[in-house]
Amino acid sequence: MSSESKSNRLIVLSNRLPVTLKRTRGALKAERSGGGLVAAMEPAMRQRGGVWIGWPGGRLRPEESIDVEESPYRLHPVRLSDHETRRFYHGYSNGTLWPLFHSLPERMVLDRRNYEVFESVNARFAEAALEEMEEGDLVWVHDYQLVLCPELVRRRRPTSRLAFFLHIPFPPYDLFRILPSYREVLRGLLACDLVGFHSAGYVSNFFDCVERLLGARVDRERGRVEHGDRTVRVGAFPLGIDYDEYEHRARTAPRPRRPVGQQIVLGVDRLDYTKGIPERLLAYERLLELHRPHRGAVTMIQVAVPSREQVTEYQQLKRQIDELVGRINGRFGTSLWTPIHYINRSIPGPRLSALYRDASVALVTPLRDGMNLVAKEFVASQTDQPGVLVLSRMAGAAESMLESLLVNPYNIDSVADALHRALEMPPDQRETRMRALQRRERRHDLDKWLGDFLDAATSSNHAMAPVREADFDAWLGDFVGEHPLAVFLDFDGTLAPIAAHPSMVKLPAETIEWLERCVARPDTQVAIVSGRSLRDIRMHAPIDGLVYAGNHGLEIEGPGLDAFRHTDTAHYRERGEALAEALASIDVPGVWTEQKGATLTLHFREAARDEHDAIAQRARELILAAGFQARDALCAVEGRPPIGWDKGHAVLHVLRERYGPGWSESVRAIYVGDDETDEDAFRALLGLGQTFRVGPPTEPTRARRRLSGVGAVQTLLRWIAGRRPGRPLPG
Ligand code: UDP
Repeated sequence: MSSESKSNRLIVLSNRLPVTLKRTRGALKAERSGGGLVAAMEPAMRQRGGVWIGWPGGRLRPEESIDVEESPYRLHPVRLSDHETRRFYHGYSNGTLWPLFHSLPERMVLDRRNYEVFESVNARFAEAALEEMEEGDLVWVHDYQLVLCPELVRRRRPTSRLAFFLHIPFPPYDLFRILPSYREVLRGLLACDLVGFHSAGYVSNFFDCVERLLGARVDRERGRVEHGDRTVRVGAFPLGIDYDEYEHRARTAPRPRRPVGQQIVLGVDRLDYTKGIPERLLAYERLLELHRPHRGAVTMIQVAVPSREQVTEYQQLKRQIDELVGRINGRFGTSLWTPIHYINRSIPGPRLSALYRDASVALVTPLRDGMNLVAKEFVASQTDQPGVLVLSRMAGAAESMLESLLVNPYNIDSVADALHRALEMPPDQRETRMRALQRRERRHDLDKWLGDFLDAATSSNHAMAPVREADFDAWLGDFVGEHPLAVFLDFDGTLAPIAAHPSMVKLPAETIEWLERCVARPDTQVAIVSGRSLRDIRMHAPIDGLVYAGNHGLEIEGPGLDAFRHTDTAHYRERGEALAEALASIDVPGVWTEQKGATLTLHFREAARDEHDAIAQRARELILAAGFQARDALCAVEGRPPIGWDKGHAVLHVLRERYGPGWSESVRAIYVGDDETDEDAFRALLGLGQTFRVGPPTEPTRARRRLSGVGAVQTLLRWIAGRRPGRPLPG
């Protein structure tokens, strides 16, 4: 990072750079390209300056850079090889994420190799951002191709200011969870300070996913997600258009001569399967079938801008549309009238504006669309006699453009019906609807979108209030009900804060008090499950009535239980002693071995940080050589005899011994833990109990939910201690 003072610039990352490269007689020329994203970002870039990072397309040679004349910001190209373009762009971005996010999972292609390249290209973009970033910059990442980027930046620069905007839909939980990499995608986004979507519906889907798939705590009202010790702001920022510009263009666009009395039905789309073009053509055909008077009086103009032409699916779609247009024109056309004018290329702005202005009906019927700007551009361009917008409910735009005729694009008959209503609508009704649409779009234009997003991205992120007892009511209330409760708690990092040395760890007085109150309840059993030896854990948490499981459950004692020592531990005593001697050979200051009877732990928290990896590596080698299992812990490596017994076995042992094999009928189990060894218990209780992983969300977990730290565990204990009395523990 440079030492310059706070720069406040924008670093924009998007898949494509906002230029089209042309090579004439060997010389490279960069022309600013059109498109929604460029139009949206240009004003901000011009105002604040900064760097735009993106793929320049295939034509840039390695030694070349891109200069755009009079550009107020710099372009930083990320070059992609053909292989990368195929796997990152066509493969994972457009073959996996695009269809799934548009709720069309049957079109999704899953290929591990595509994901690997997707990851590595995202890392390259992140690298480019890290190169460019200065203190105070806002890094704004755009769209689904770069979902992993924010986390890669955050990891290297924890204090970065990061924002993300998704330009496509965010799918419902039930579809999103199909994605094998759902965790990575969610965590990629949650690395940001702000995540923006087009609509409140997508925000709600995102909340469902982070809550149900990551166990994160969400505040839907204030639009917040708790992600470890950070709060992520999430909101709907519906993209608008440069309204005045479109209105102006419509007023000044050429006025082609059209047959008097002809009504135009207009469709404008990229040629993409999400746009529902075949379904729309069928609806138009249905209209002509059902309502004879429209024949000869209505003409449909369908603009389909070529897109992703190398992809087989898009080629097939193009053929399908060609055939449909041919069939419908053949079926209804006359020597004087062609029902559908099909334009399969991009058309210049003034001509598009004239079409928008002159159309009686815009038929905007995507099967699914993030927002759909065509609907908005049509509305802004209706400067003459107002027409009617027929809009798919599946477009983000439908959330606000309520005065349109909203349709289900899959229901051909109902679209035909809406089209008929639109064509027959009396002028006063058209006027009322269109003016209302125009007022809203004028107010919620591009400037407003940009301003709202940047304000949210740069305002201080109000942290989420700490977890409250009411949260546990919502999470555990129904689950627990009147049942007695068996609570299992890890010790270090869960009940007590980690300290420099295990012997210095102390249970906070408040925690002791709440534990005592929990244990005193006749409907509650509390167990501490620890990697420490049983003696040690008893000493650190001396509370009457507790069940103790030490050495990861190899030794268990407590009320209502026969004392348990795993029988196999005896066979490993000698080998354990030999291992302790071997570990003593790691003669580095700050390294020491804790002998815990059945298991032992080599600690290196106090050793020099740059030696940690080497120490851990050596310890693992020695442990494995002794025939023990090695397991990484916090600044420590544990050696355990290979007995096939872990915290999961211990928890199930306690439950079975105390309440019988059908325990899940009579008690409800809760497990709370903070490290890798607790994952065994989370796994054992999958589908059987409620589980919480404490600590930062950096490690994946099997637990149902996450808690931020020891304080949140105290709140859980308070909730347990204070809940309505349930049935007493059996036995
Ligand atoms: N558009 C264009 N050339 C054309 C027809 C349309 O550039 O010949 C533009 C249109 O003005 C609109 C964009 O393409 O701004 C389409 O945006 P939309 O949100 O409707 O769909 P997307 O293509 O982003 O999925």
